[in-house]
Amino acid sequence: MRYISTRGGIEPLSFREAVMTGLAPDGGLLLPETVPRLPVQTLEAWKGLTYQDLAAEIFSLYADDIPEDDLRHLLTSSYASFRHPEVTPLVSLGDIYILELFHGPTLAFKDLALQFLGNLFQYLLRQNGGKMNILGATSGDTGSAAIYGVRGKENINIFILHPHRKISRIQELQMTTVPDANVFNIAVQGTFDQAQAIVKAIFNDLPFKASYSLGAINSINWARVLAQVVYYFYAYFRLASDRGGGEVLMAVPTGNFGDIFAGYLAKRMGLPIRRLILATNENNILTRFVRAGDYSLGQVVPTYSPSMDIQVASNFERYLYYLYDQDPARVKEAMAAFQETGRLSFSPEEVSSVGKDFSSTSVSREETLSTIRHFWQERRYLLDPHTAVGVRAGLLCQEDHLPLICLATAHPAKFGEAVQAAIGEKVKLPPPLMGLTDKPSRCTILPAEVEAVKAFIRSHALR
Ligand SMILES: *Cc1c(COP(=O)(O)O)cnc(C)c1O
Repeated sequence: MRYISTRGGIEPLSFREAVMTGLAPDGGLLLPETVPRLPVQTLEAWKGLTYQDLAAEIFSLYADDIPEDDLRHLLTSSYASFRHPEVTPLVSLGDIYILELFHGPTLAFKDLALQFLGNLFQYLLRQNGGKMNILGATSGDTGSAAIYGVRGKENINIFILHPHRKISRIQELQMTTVPDANVFNIAVQGTFDQAQAIVKAIFNDLPFKASYSLGAINSINWARVLAQVVYYFYAYFRLASDRGGGEVLMAVPTGNFGDIFAGYLAKRMGLPIRRLILATNENNILTRFVRAGDYSLGQVVPTYSPSMDIQVASNFERYLYYLYDQDPARVKEAMAAFQETGRLSFSPEEVSSVGKDFSSTSVSREETLSTIRHFWQERRYLLDPHTAVGVRAGLLCQEDHLPLICLATAHPAKFGEAVQAAIGEKVKLPPPLMGLTDKPSRCTILPAEVEAVKAFIRSHALR
């Protein structure tokens, strides 16, 4: 399988190159040249596979330059860190199903991709004898999942910037209590946007980037998307064994369009998803896009689901490529226009084509809390605020009594304050979060300046 850029400006890459490249040099995102359409017999044959075996089948379609035994080994060790034997169990609540994606080491769905990506980086570096310094900024969940993905790995150091005292205490402790020597937490004295701008500026300094072999772990990495395709299939097969085949709906709480884009790929591969329900909080640019063809920037407002408090969805360009009939010239032009004006608009024909794959609704803060409260009181099931946004949107967008699978993207204890506000009780901490406050923590506080962060990297990077 070869990989191309959504903007058409590069020679095709292999899977290995695509993983190491991250963002395409022409500014576009990488996609496989073709998305294989699976015959019904293949779906039938995959039905009973374990999570790891299913992952190996899906990866081998897209990563044909890695021997299958090696892939299997990488996937098995990546998911051994999950606390549930099924990795992503599907829980039935009667009329809806919850796909629990939070059994990894940092209790959010990002572990599914980043546990694997860490192992894959280490494997590729071992083969080419290289070293890598990962640099990223986080407003919460990504940082800890990335740190847990590469902690203790040889030939990799990781530098994660977070805004000093502006993330939740639990999120901060999850990152700063990791004792491995290859992990460097930097608290910048500024906002998340400043931290992100510093990271961007450093990546744009190409000589610096090259001499320190800087690598990125953000959600545009193709291997992250691919790892997320697996649980859509897995959930479908678990449901099918419960109530037979047929079409389903899947509701996905969405921020950067990464998770739901994986669902779109699964649908393109032939998984019978009638529609993907794109759930947003009050930051609803993607809902406006699906419903009215209006993709225009607004102000970010803080909500109870901070990992979805996003306006520019970094994976949206991948979907645009398919909406524009795989025409990279149109994507390039649209992205330039968006850069310029902060908006894109779509014709009624395009909106109706979007509607074949997606429906969408935006969920308010109040509805988020009332959904958590309702599911706790009526069913004794505790939703985290992100999952609650997805569940609420899923129920509102139900059609034809189709089975509904809602993706649960975080453990409720990770966002305990909001959950407590909803149900009026303290949330019990699961073992990975217990005792965090007693552990020694390490973090370097730096001014929000590019030069200060560069100097820190110079003195701690692997060369
Ligand atoms: C990152 C995140 C999301 C949003 O996922 P995207 O891939 O950015 O759409 C939703 N819920 C939680 C808990 C997250 O950490």
